[in-house]
Amino acid sequence: MPEPAPNAANGARPDTRVPKRQVVLYPDPVLRRKAQPVKTVDSSIRELVEDMFLLMDLEEGAGLAAPQVGESLRIFVTGTHERGVPRKAYINPVFVELGGEFESMDEGCLSLPEIRGSVRRPTQVTIRALDIDGREFTETSSDFSARVWQHEFDHLEGVLIIDKMSPLDRLRVRRAVKDLKAAADGDA
Ligand code: ZN
Repeated sequence: MPEPAPNAANGARPDTRVPKRQVVLYPDPVLRRKAQPVKTVDSSIRELVEDMFLLMDLEEGAGLAAPQVGESLRIFVTGTHERGVPRKAYINPVFVELGGEFESMDEGCLSLPEIRGSVRRPTQVTIRALDIDGREFTETSSDFSARVWQHEFDHLEGVLIIDKMSPLDRLRVRRAVKDLKAAADGDA
């Protein structure tokens, strides 16, 4: 999920590391697959998580899920200083509670460039996951984090914002979705 606003000037760290992976774009089939649980949080998983953080920063995302870098595993990372979303990895996440009011908000997705639309989600969320040391933790949020968690969790289920957008927005982005498909066909 991209950051809510472009942040050109701030937070420009001189990071010279180059990610090993790339952000996968719709309609790549990996985005539609249900991701597999992580069996052991080992060095290969930590390497993947590092790469995901690197890509999220490069692409100025607020979150990134493993299927979006071509790995069908139940992992996502978050982090944006702008909206107070902690820099964190969530491995094998589950929702303990999804409650509160439903709220509509415009969302974008790094795998669906140029596409944004209104998505309704619950605002009070408790999540349980493993951290990069394989330790279980539980977190509750009623802030922007709650939305990012749900967006990224959807990726682990093969669900995208174009599935959840308001009908009007779905109609509005139809052309852009078609263009993405055409671009992928052109590559093949
Ligand atoms: Zn996304």
